[in-house]
Amino acid sequence: MTQKERCLKAVAEKVSSCRKCELSKNRKKTVPGTGKPDAKVMVIGEAPGKNEDEQGLPFVGRAGSILDEALEKAGKKREDVFITNVVKCRPPNNRDPRKKEVESCNEYLEKQIKTVDPDIILPVGNHALQRVLSKKKISQHRGKIYKKNGRKYMPTYHPAATIYNRKIRPRFEKDIQKAFEGG
Ligand code: SF4
Repeated sequence: MTQKERCLKAVAEKVSSCRKCELSKNRKKTVPGTGKPDAKVMVIGEAPGKNEDEQGLPFVGRAGSILDEALEKAGKKREDVFITNVVKCRPPNNRDPRKKEVESCNEYLEKQIKTVDPDIILPVGNHALQRVLSKKKISQHRGKIYKKNGRKYMPTYHPAATIYNRKIRPRFEKDIQKAFEGG
Protein backbone atom coordinates (compact mmCIF):
# COMPACT_ATOMS: atom_id res chain seq x y z
CA MET A 1 0.00 0.00 0.00
CA THR A 2 1.36 3.43 -0.91
CA GLN A 3 1.59 6.36 1.48
CA LYS A 4 -1.33 8.08 -0.27
CA GLU A 5 -3.48 4.95 -0.03
CA ARG A 6 -2.65 4.68 3.67
CA CYS A 7 -3.59 8.32 4.29
CA LEU A 8 -6.90 8.05 2.40
CA LYS A 9 -7.75 4.83 4.21
CA ALA A 10 -7.05 6.54 7.53
CA VAL A 11 -9.41 9.39 6.58
CA ALA A 12 -12.14 6.90 5.59
CA GLU A 13 -11.72 5.06 8.90
CA LYS A 14 -11.98 8.26 10.90
CA VAL A 15 -15.08 9.27 8.93
CA SER A 16 -16.70 5.87 9.52
CA SER A 17 -16.75 6.42 13.29
CA CYS A 18 -17.15 10.21 13.22
CA ARG A 19 -19.83 11.74 15.45
CA LYS A 20 -18.70 15.34 15.20
CA CYS A 21 -21.97 16.66 13.83
CA GLU A 22 -25.72 16.04 13.69
CA LEU A 23 -25.45 14.26 10.34
CA SER A 24 -24.06 11.17 12.07
CA LYS A 25 -27.48 10.53 13.63
CA ASN A 26 -29.45 9.54 10.54
CA ARG A 27 -26.83 8.20 8.17
CA LYS A 28 -26.88 4.57 7.08
CA LYS A 29 -23.34 4.59 5.74
CA THR A 30 -20.64 7.21 5.67
CA VAL A 31 -19.49 8.25 2.20
CA PRO A 32 -15.86 9.28 2.52
CA GLY A 33 -15.10 9.31 -1.20
CA THR A 34 -13.32 7.04 -3.59
CA GLY A 35 -10.96 7.00 -6.54
CA LYS A 36 -7.38 7.17 -7.65
CA PRO A 37 -5.09 8.17 -4.77
CA ASP A 38 -2.92 10.29 -7.07
CA ALA A 39 -5.67 11.50 -9.42
CA LYS A 40 -4.99 14.63 -11.47
CA VAL A 41 -8.67 15.57 -11.28
CA MET A 42 -10.75 15.70 -8.11
CA VAL A 43 -14.54 16.07 -8.15
CA ILE A 44 -16.30 17.51 -5.10
CA GLY A 45 -20.08 17.37 -4.69
CA GLU A 46 -22.07 18.77 -1.82
CA ALA A 47 -23.36 15.79 0.17
CA PRO A 48 -24.38 12.15 -0.21
CA GLY A 49 -27.96 11.50 -1.33
CA LYS A 50 -30.21 8.51 -0.69
CA ASN A 51 -28.41 6.04 -2.98
CA GLU A 52 -24.98 7.15 -1.77
CA ASP A 53 -26.07 6.76 1.86
CA GLU A 54 -27.23 3.21 1.17
CA GLN A 55 -24.15 2.16 -0.75
CA GLY A 56 -21.44 4.19 0.99
CA LEU A 57 -20.20 5.43 -2.40
CA PRO A 58 -20.30 8.89 -3.95
CA PHE A 59 -22.20 9.73 -7.14
CA VAL A 60 -24.18 6.54 -7.70
CA GLY A 61 -27.57 6.35 -9.43
CA ARG A 62 -28.48 8.45 -12.46
CA ALA A 63 -26.18 11.37 -11.62
CA GLY A 64 -23.30 8.93 -11.24
CA SER A 65 -24.03 7.41 -14.67
CA ILE A 66 -24.00 10.87 -16.25
CA LEU A 67 -20.63 11.57 -14.66
CA ASP A 68 -19.35 8.20 -15.90
CA GLU A 69 -20.58 8.96 -19.43
CA ALA A 70 -18.87 12.37 -19.40
CA LEU A 71 -15.65 10.74 -18.20
CA GLU A 72 -15.91 8.15 -20.95
CA LYS A 73 -16.34 10.87 -23.58
CA ALA A 74 -13.15 12.44 -22.22
CA GLY A 75 -11.44 9.06 -22.65
CA LYS A 76 -11.36 8.44 -18.90
CA LYS A 77 -12.95 6.22 -16.30
CA ARG A 78 -14.22 6.79 -12.80
CA GLU A 79 -11.04 5.13 -11.52
CA ASP A 80 -9.03 7.98 -13.05
CA VAL A 81 -10.49 10.63 -10.72
CA PHE A 82 -11.01 11.06 -7.01
CA ILE A 83 -14.63 11.77 -6.09
CA THR A 84 -15.89 13.04 -2.77
CA ASN A 85 -18.31 15.47 -1.13
CA VAL A 86 -18.08 18.49 1.14
CA VAL A 87 -19.82 16.49 3.90
CA LYS A 88 -19.47 12.75 4.24
CA CYS A 89 -22.89 11.90 5.71
CA ARG A 90 -26.33 12.36 4.16
CA PRO A 91 -28.37 15.31 5.45
CA PRO A 92 -31.92 14.18 6.39
CA ASN A 93 -34.40 14.58 3.52
CA ASN A 94 -31.55 15.92 1.37
CA ARG A 95 -31.62 19.30 3.11
CA ASP A 96 -28.61 21.54 2.61
CA PRO A 97 -25.74 20.86 5.00
CA ARG A 98 -25.48 23.54 7.69
CA LYS A 99 -22.47 25.78 8.09
CA LYS A 100 -21.47 24.05 11.31
CA GLU A 101 -21.67 20.63 9.65
CA VAL A 102 -19.52 21.78 6.75
CA GLU A 103 -16.97 23.19 9.17
CA SER A 104 -16.98 20.00 11.24
CA CYS A 105 -16.34 17.89 8.16
CA ASN A 106 -13.79 20.18 6.56
CA GLU A 107 -10.74 18.51 8.09
CA TYR A 108 -11.49 15.32 6.12
CA LEU A 109 -11.87 17.13 2.82
CA GLU A 110 -8.69 19.13 3.45
CA LYS A 111 -6.76 15.95 4.24
CA GLN A 112 -8.06 14.29 1.06
CA ILE A 113 -7.08 17.28 -1.09
CA LYS A 114 -3.64 17.43 0.50
CA THR A 115 -3.11 13.70 0.05
CA VAL A 116 -4.36 13.32 -3.53
CA ASP A 117 -2.76 16.65 -4.47
CA PRO A 118 -4.72 16.94 -7.75
CA ASP A 119 -3.81 19.33 -10.57
CA ILE A 120 -7.38 20.62 -10.66
CA ILE A 121 -10.45 20.44 -8.41
CA LEU A 122 -14.01 20.53 -9.77
CA PRO A 123 -16.67 21.70 -7.34
CA VAL A 124 -19.88 20.46 -8.96
CA GLY A 125 -23.15 22.32 -8.54
CA ASN A 126 -24.18 25.51 -6.79
CA HIS A 127 -23.78 24.24 -3.27
CA ALA A 128 -20.28 22.83 -3.70
CA LEU A 129 -19.31 26.04 -5.51
CA GLN A 130 -20.46 28.08 -2.56
CA ARG A 131 -18.87 25.81 0.05
CA VAL A 132 -15.54 25.46 -1.74
CA LEU A 133 -15.07 28.83 -3.46
CA SER A 134 -17.61 31.07 -1.67
CA LYS A 135 -19.22 31.94 -5.01
CA LYS A 136 -22.82 31.79 -6.20
CA LYS A 137 -24.46 30.83 -9.50
CA ILE A 138 -22.74 27.90 -11.13
CA SER A 139 -23.93 29.07 -14.56
CA GLN A 140 -21.71 32.15 -14.23
CA HIS A 141 -18.63 30.35 -12.94
CA ARG A 142 -18.62 26.99 -14.72
CA GLY A 143 -15.64 26.31 -16.92
CA LYS A 144 -13.65 29.18 -15.40
CA ILE A 145 -10.38 28.68 -13.58
CA TYR A 146 -9.94 29.96 -10.05
CA LYS A 147 -6.90 29.85 -7.80
CA LYS A 148 -7.24 29.49 -4.05
CA ASN A 149 -4.47 28.69 -1.57
CA GLY A 150 -2.18 27.68 -4.41
CA ARG A 151 -4.70 25.24 -5.90
CA LYS A 152 -6.52 25.33 -9.20
CA TYR A 153 -10.32 25.03 -9.29
CA MET A 154 -12.82 24.81 -12.12
CA PRO A 155 -16.49 24.67 -11.10
CA THR A 156 -19.00 22.86 -13.26
CA TYR A 157 -22.64 21.77 -13.14
CA HIS A 158 -23.78 18.95 -10.90
CA PRO A 159 -24.48 15.96 -13.16
CA ALA A 160 -27.96 15.65 -11.59
CA ALA A 161 -28.78 19.15 -12.91
CA THR A 162 -28.28 17.86 -16.46
CA ILE A 163 -31.12 15.36 -16.00
CA TYR A 164 -33.71 18.14 -15.85
CA ASN A 165 -31.92 20.62 -18.07
CA ARG A 166 -30.54 18.58 -20.94
CA LYS A 167 -29.15 21.57 -22.81
CA ILE A 168 -26.42 21.98 -20.19
CA ARG A 169 -25.21 18.39 -20.61
CA PRO A 170 -22.78 19.24 -23.47
CA ARG A 171 -21.34 22.08 -21.33
CA PHE A 172 -20.88 19.72 -18.41
CA GLU A 173 -19.16 17.18 -20.68
CA LYS A 174 -16.96 19.89 -22.16
CA ASP A 175 -15.88 20.98 -18.67
CA ILE A 176 -14.97 17.42 -17.71
CA GLN A 177 -12.85 17.11 -20.84
CA LYS A 178 -11.25 20.50 -20.19
CA ALA A 179 -10.30 19.43 -16.68
CA PHE A 180 -8.19 16.59 -18.06
CA GLU A 181 -6.53 18.98 -20.47
CA GLY A 182 -5.37 20.99 -17.48
CA GLY A 183 -8.30 23.43 -17.29
S1 SF4 B 1 -20.80 14.84 8.13
FE1 SF4 B 1 -18.57 14.81 8.51
S2 SF4 B 1 -18.30 15.79 10.50
FE2 SF4 B 1 -20.46 15.21 10.34
S3 SF4 B 1 -20.59 13.17 11.31
FE3 SF4 B 1 -20.31 12.86 9.09
S4 SF4 B 1 -18.09 12.63 8.85
FE4 SF4 B 1 -18.41 13.57 10.86
